[in-house]
Amino acid sequence: MKITFLGATQEVTGSKYLIEDKGTKILVDCGLFQGDKELRGQNMDKFPIEPSSIDAIVLTHAHIDHTGYIPALVKDGFRGAIYCSKATYQLSSIMLLDSGRVQEKEATDLPLYTEKDAEYALQFFKVVDYDTIVNIGTSLKVTLIRSGHILGSAFVILSDGKQTVTFSGDLGRPDQLTMKPPPYLEKTDFLVIESTYGDRLHEQGDSIKELGHIVNETVEKGGVLIIPSFAVSRTQTILYALYLLKEKNAIPKVPIFLDSPMAIRVTDLFCDFKAEHALPPLLCDDIFDVATYTPTAQQSKKIDTLKHSAIIIAGSGMVTGGRVLHHLKSFISDAKNTVLFVGFQAEGTDGRALVEGAKEIKIHDKLYNVRAEIKRINTLSGHADYNEILEWLSHFQNSLKKVFVTHGEIEASRSLQKKMEERFGWTVVIPKYLESFDLD
Ligand SMILES: [Zn+2]
Repeated sequence: MKITFLGATQEVTGSKYLIEDKGTKILVDCGLFQGDKELRGQNMDKFPIEPSSIDAIVLTHAHIDHTGYIPALVKDGFRGAIYCSKATYQLSSIMLLDSGRVQEKEATDLPLYTEKDAEYALQFFKVVDYDTIVNIGTSLKVTLIRSGHILGSAFVILSDGKQTVTFSGDLGRPDQLTMKPPPYLEKTDFLVIESTYGDRLHEQGDSIKELGHIVNETVEKGGVLIIPSFAVSRTQTILYALYLLKEKNAIPKVPIFLDSPMAIRVTDLFCDFKAEHALPPLLCDDIFDVATYTPTAQQSKKIDTLKHSAIIIAGSGMVTGGRVLHHLKSFISDAKNTVLFVGFQAEGTDGRALVEGAKEIKIHDKLYNVRAEIKRINTLSGHADYNEILEWLSHFQNSLKKVFVTHGEIEASRSLQKKMEERFGWTVVIPKYLESFDLD
């Protein structure tokens, strides 16, 4: 078997790993490069191998940085099967269409792909049960194992009958509000591990209490709390936390709006997969009733005319687009309001600039002063920190032949590399873009 790294090399987006064996080519994940203009520009480059020569794609999970290039690949001739879990398929059918709309909207020239292209690509998806072997080509076997990062997420385990390579996808955390912890794996020869938080530890703290505190502070000032949020998982976690706070009467009764058509559809899906997440099954529907859903643009605009406190959850999570921009225009220049970031902010995004203290922000070509309080809760991440990664790794009972560190900014990857070498004595590599390795 041979592996070639086509993305998420010394960066957090664009996950794409090519496995080749006896003439069969499999792409594990097919993500979009996201972040600043230069990064996004990489999506427009000619794909390094002929798309029609790829036999199959296997997905770890539905986040766009792991799936968002699929419609482009199909447009350019890929015709194989796209294997994934049931929830990943359902989420992808929401998220890829949205991605198509975003591509159309943001394109200065021709879009990378359209909503129609995304819809066409969905017909190639094939749902696979967890823990079930799928044969691809003459020699390769693939298994998905539930991994606890988001709904539908999986470890991808690939074997050629002699060697096994495991892809962590994004590694979930042992103790999360909404997702079950990732199970331990005991054996693999090769491992591709993410390193988003390879040089950091998550703050230990009571995220629910922290959120309650921020809600109370904002409401006391008569302000509006805006929470830019990712549609999958993070939004549902915030809703669950708000539900718990409301149940305890720990926050005042202010309206809560879920103002993201995509997050609304994802939230509706959540209770169909009760076995996959950690929410109390009987309460699933009640939990998500905590917010008023505002799917239409008209309902969304009405929120900004409110004269009293409210909580607005809207996408996108890194303030790179979506309805949150409209709310920020209305509220970011008033000191009584708060913008609360609850997720990772990639380099080059406005979200990153705001958490780093930007005094002004350009939205739709107009500058706005930042006077609202900018807050951050760091305890809700869906990615394991380095201690949690090392703890998960420590359960491998055999000696790994090689570990590839991907999906991290270079400092994070290097830091994790060093820790793994010291602790386990493994050979740990940070692959470069287009670099290949034999797996035998
Ligand atoms: Zn992810």
